[in-house]
Amino acid sequence: MEVSKEQILEEKIDYLKTMCKLKGMRVTPQRIAIFKEVAKSCEHPDAETVYEAVKHKMPNVSVDTVYRTLSSLEEMDMIFRVDNQLPKARFDADKTPHHHFLCTQCNEVYDIFLEPGEEIPIPKNADKFGRIKDINVQIRGICNKCLEKNSK
Ligand SMILES: [Zn+2]
Ligand SMILES: [Zn+2]
Repeated sequence: MEVSKEQILEEKIDYLKTMCKLKGMRVTPQRIAIFKEVAKSCEHPDAETVYEAVKHKMPNVSVDTVYRTLSSLEEMDMIFRVDNQLPKARFDADKTPHHHFLCTQCNEVYDIFLEPGEEIPIPKNADKFGRIKDINVQIRGICNKCLEKNSK
């Protein structure tokens, strides 16, 4: 049976609730809504985008709350920052190992998943500095959408 996106999202939210309880944090509707916004999106939203989306459902939420909640979710390891040279911090709730393609023209962040058995070579000099845990590749370039726009 195929697992639907909604089911995966529900599971992630259940996991968040469990984590909140473990860490002695309250499971507030705001926290859930903010996490949901990051988790359901493939677009690696920034804080303002999350705020805009949550605001419609919860007019009492402030930008400040969104920033604070995103940081606490980050501390809980529920989301992480797409570490890059983009103008704003962008968030990702997909914890499965993947890499990113960043478009330097439109700032879109695309997920790159490796093919089965595919491996990214580790730079020869990397293990001079310690034991390697994993690699995270950020490829920068111009995305297809922008290429098409530019050619017009
Ligand atoms: Zn682009
Ligand atoms: Zn991602």
